[in-house]
Amino acid sequence: MPEPKVAGLVKMSASDWPGRLAAVVFLQGCPWRCAYCHNPNILDRAAPGAMPWAEVLEFLRRRRGLLDGVVFSGGEPLIDQALPAAAAQVKALGFQVGLHTGGAWPRRLATLLDARTAPGNGHACGATIDPRGARHRAGASPAPTTDSGVNDEFRRGGPCGRPTAGHSPANEPLAQPCDSLIDWVGLDIKHLPHKYRQVTGAAASGRAAWSSLGVVVESGVPHEVRTTVDPTTHTPDDVAELLEAVATFRSPNDNAAQAHVLQEARPVGAAANHEHAFTNWRLADHLADTTLQPTHLRAA
Ligand code: SF4
Repeated sequence: MPEPKVAGLVKMSASDWPGRLAAVVFLQGCPWRCAYCHNPNILDRAAPGAMPWAEVLEFLRRRRGLLDGVVFSGGEPLIDQALPAAAAQVKALGFQVGLHTGGAWPRRLATLLDARTAPGNGHACGATIDPRGARHRAGASPAPTTDSGVNDEFRRGGPCGRPTAGHSPANEPLAQPCDSLIDWVGLDIKHLPHKYRQVTGAAASGRAAWSSLGVVVESGVPHEVRTTVDPTTHTPDDVAELLEAVATFRSPNDNAAQAHVLQEARPVGAAANHEHAFTNWRLADHLADTTLQPTHLRAA
């Protein structure tokens, strides 16, 4: 079985999954190059991992009953083909599983959010998530995005037509509901679609990320949308427009994105030629002339 390439492990965090005490596993590699990135050392997928996956599992075995869950982060964790199997192993140890993603691969994300594990917490099998994303209130669904390199195991699915870990054989009738593999998603929406490249340096990144927003909203998986505000690319009007645009996404049950938090870009770790833009800069000041509520803001 392929193993995830682990770039780092935070053994306990109270801030990476709101309301949960979680370990954070950073996976190596990211297709984007955001100027404010705090993790430039883990962007190169070809770089060696920092520790074996077996070491992470051994650590987690010793933390059963002490942590609520494990968050897979990055980098961009969807880059790692071993992510579904790794998440299933974590789930089998009794932890909830969270995911931090920028949504670079909406089809992979849809497959992962559609995945189920052994019966347990009441998500009935049957429906599948449309990888084109949730219904937009205005009626225009995000266009499908092609993901290269998604392996068969990631797509194929179990007895209820979903990728699984721990399911019974493919032809066996499913007698019980089954657990969602992913319990929570923190999705970065970095900018308005047509301005995404200014942040990530990647031409198609806006289309992918906004399709992923649709996927997350439609999935029904609890989630939080986060936007890191960068004073070099986000005007206050951009931020207001972005909040409005996110709020237009609706699930089939007419549920909107569950939370949208604005985060303050920080100078620590940012590219050297970008760092000065954040020094002594405060997000609250940047938005002082808007009507945005303080509840939207999160201090760095
Ligand atoms: S999406 Fe951007 S901020 Fe996140 S890991 Fe990749 S380069 Fe860094």
